[in-house]
Amino acid sequence: MKKVEHIAIAVKSLAKSVPLFEKLLNTPCYKTEKIESERVTASFFKTGETKIELLEGMDETGHIARFIEKVGEGMHHIAFEVDDIKAEMKRLMEAGFLLLSGEPKKGADNKLICFLHPRDTNGVLIELCQEIKE
Ligand code: ZN
Repeated sequence: MKKVEHIAIAVKSLAKSVPLFEKLLNTPCYKTEKIESERVTASFFKTGETKIELLEGMDETGHIARFIEKVGEGMHHIAFEVDDIKAEMKRLMEAGFLLLSGEPKKGADNKLICFLHPRDTNGVLIELCQEIKE
Protein backbone atom coordinates (compact mmCIF):
# COMPACT_ATOMS: atom_id res chain seq x y z
CA MET A 1 0.00 0.00 0.00
CA LYS A 2 1.38 3.37 -1.02
CA LYS A 3 0.18 5.85 1.57
CA VAL A 4 -2.73 6.90 3.73
CA GLU A 5 -5.01 8.48 1.12
CA HIS A 6 -7.59 9.79 3.55
CA ILE A 7 -8.96 9.51 7.03
CA ALA A 8 -12.74 9.63 7.29
CA ILE A 9 -14.68 11.02 10.22
CA ALA A 10 -18.39 10.42 10.79
CA VAL A 11 -20.26 13.61 11.70
CA LYS A 12 -23.87 14.43 12.47
CA SER A 13 -23.87 17.71 10.60
CA LEU A 14 -21.58 18.90 7.80
CA ALA A 15 -23.07 22.37 8.26
CA LYS A 16 -21.49 22.42 11.73
CA SER A 17 -18.39 20.30 11.15
CA VAL A 18 -17.12 21.83 7.89
CA PRO A 19 -16.50 25.28 9.47
CA LEU A 20 -15.01 23.53 12.51
CA PHE A 21 -12.50 21.58 10.40
CA GLU A 22 -11.74 24.63 8.26
CA LYS A 23 -10.76 26.39 11.47
CA LEU A 24 -8.89 23.37 12.85
CA LEU A 25 -6.91 22.57 9.68
CA ASN A 26 -6.65 26.19 8.55
CA THR A 27 -7.61 25.19 5.02
CA PRO A 28 -10.91 25.48 3.15
CA CYS A 29 -13.10 22.50 2.32
CA TYR A 30 -12.41 22.05 -1.43
CA LYS A 31 -15.30 19.81 -2.38
CA THR A 32 -18.54 18.31 -1.13
CA GLU A 33 -19.88 15.28 -2.95
CA LYS A 34 -22.97 13.12 -2.60
CA ILE A 35 -22.18 9.40 -2.85
CA GLU A 36 -25.55 7.89 -3.66
CA SER A 37 -24.33 4.28 -3.55
CA GLU A 38 -23.21 4.75 0.08
CA ARG A 39 -26.04 7.16 1.01
CA VAL A 40 -23.51 9.66 2.39
CA THR A 41 -22.42 13.21 1.70
CA ALA A 42 -18.66 13.75 1.97
CA SER A 43 -16.72 16.99 2.44
CA PHE A 44 -13.01 16.98 1.62
CA PHE A 45 -9.97 18.78 3.02
CA LYS A 46 -6.35 18.56 1.93
CA THR A 47 -3.64 18.21 4.55
CA GLY A 48 -0.42 17.67 2.64
CA GLU A 49 -0.52 14.28 0.91
CA THR A 50 -3.47 13.07 2.92
CA LYS A 51 -7.10 14.10 2.81
CA ILE A 52 -9.60 14.37 5.60
CA GLU A 53 -13.14 13.33 4.66
CA LEU A 54 -16.13 14.27 6.77
CA LEU A 55 -19.07 11.91 6.25
CA GLU A 56 -22.69 12.74 6.95
CA GLY A 57 -25.43 10.16 6.39
CA MET A 58 -28.21 11.09 3.96
CA ASP A 59 -30.86 9.30 5.98
CA GLU A 60 -31.57 7.85 9.41
CA THR A 61 -31.14 4.24 8.33
CA GLY A 62 -27.81 4.53 6.51
CA HIS A 63 -24.56 3.12 7.87
CA ILE A 64 -23.19 6.50 9.00
CA ALA A 65 -26.31 7.22 11.05
CA ARG A 66 -26.14 3.74 12.58
CA PHE A 67 -22.40 4.14 13.27
CA ILE A 68 -23.00 7.44 15.11
CA GLU A 69 -25.88 5.90 17.04
CA LYS A 70 -23.64 3.04 18.17
CA VAL A 71 -20.32 4.74 18.91
CA GLY A 72 -20.97 8.45 18.44
CA GLU A 73 -19.24 10.85 16.09
CA GLY A 74 -15.59 10.09 15.40
CA MET A 75 -13.09 8.31 13.24
CA HIS A 76 -14.85 6.07 10.76
CA HIS A 77 -12.16 4.59 8.53
CA ILE A 78 -8.61 4.86 7.18
CA ALA A 79 -8.10 4.59 3.43
CA PHE A 80 -4.90 3.38 1.81
CA GLU A 81 -4.03 4.11 -1.78
CA VAL A 82 -3.06 1.15 -3.92
CA ASP A 83 -1.92 0.84 -7.55
CA ASP A 84 -3.95 -2.23 -8.43
CA ILE A 85 -7.00 -2.68 -6.22
CA LYS A 86 -7.96 -6.08 -7.66
CA ALA A 87 -4.47 -7.49 -7.02
CA GLU A 88 -4.48 -6.05 -3.50
CA MET A 89 -7.96 -7.49 -2.79
CA LYS A 90 -6.75 -10.90 -3.96
CA ARG A 91 -3.61 -10.66 -1.81
CA LEU A 92 -5.61 -9.72 1.30
CA MET A 93 -8.27 -12.35 0.71
CA GLU A 94 -5.57 -15.00 0.43
CA ALA A 95 -4.02 -13.65 3.63
CA GLY A 96 -7.34 -14.33 5.40
CA PHE A 97 -8.95 -10.90 5.52
CA LEU A 98 -12.68 -10.59 4.93
CA LEU A 99 -13.55 -8.08 2.20
CA LEU A 100 -16.91 -6.33 2.32
CA SER A 101 -17.41 -6.59 -1.45
CA GLY A 102 -16.24 -9.09 -4.02
CA GLU A 103 -15.61 -6.41 -6.63
CA PRO A 104 -14.29 -2.85 -6.27
CA LYS A 105 -17.04 -0.22 -6.01
CA LYS A 106 -17.14 3.31 -7.35
CA GLY A 107 -16.37 5.60 -4.41
CA ALA A 108 -16.07 9.33 -3.88
CA ASP A 109 -13.50 11.52 -5.61
CA ASN A 110 -13.00 9.36 -8.69
CA LYS A 111 -11.85 6.22 -6.89
CA LEU A 112 -12.43 2.50 -6.97
CA ILE A 113 -12.80 1.33 -3.40
CA CYS A 114 -13.16 -1.77 -1.26
CA PHE A 115 -13.55 -2.12 2.51
CA LEU A 116 -12.09 -4.76 4.83
CA HIS A 117 -14.19 -6.09 7.68
CA PRO A 118 -13.01 -4.43 10.92
CA ARG A 119 -13.28 -7.79 12.69
CA ASP A 120 -9.94 -8.74 11.13
CA THR A 121 -8.22 -5.37 11.61
CA ASN A 122 -8.41 -4.60 15.32
CA GLY A 123 -11.75 -2.87 14.98
CA VAL A 124 -10.53 -0.34 12.44
CA LEU A 125 -12.47 -0.13 9.20
CA ILE A 126 -9.90 -0.13 6.37
CA GLU A 127 -10.57 1.05 2.83
CA LEU A 128 -8.46 0.37 -0.23
CA CYS A 129 -8.67 2.94 -2.99
CA GLN A 130 -7.32 3.26 -6.48
CA GLU A 131 -7.54 6.36 -8.63
CA ILE A 132 -9.68 5.81 -11.73
CA LYS A 133 -7.56 6.71 -14.74
CA GLU A 134 -9.44 7.82 -17.82
ZN1 ZN B 1 -13.13 6.62 2.44
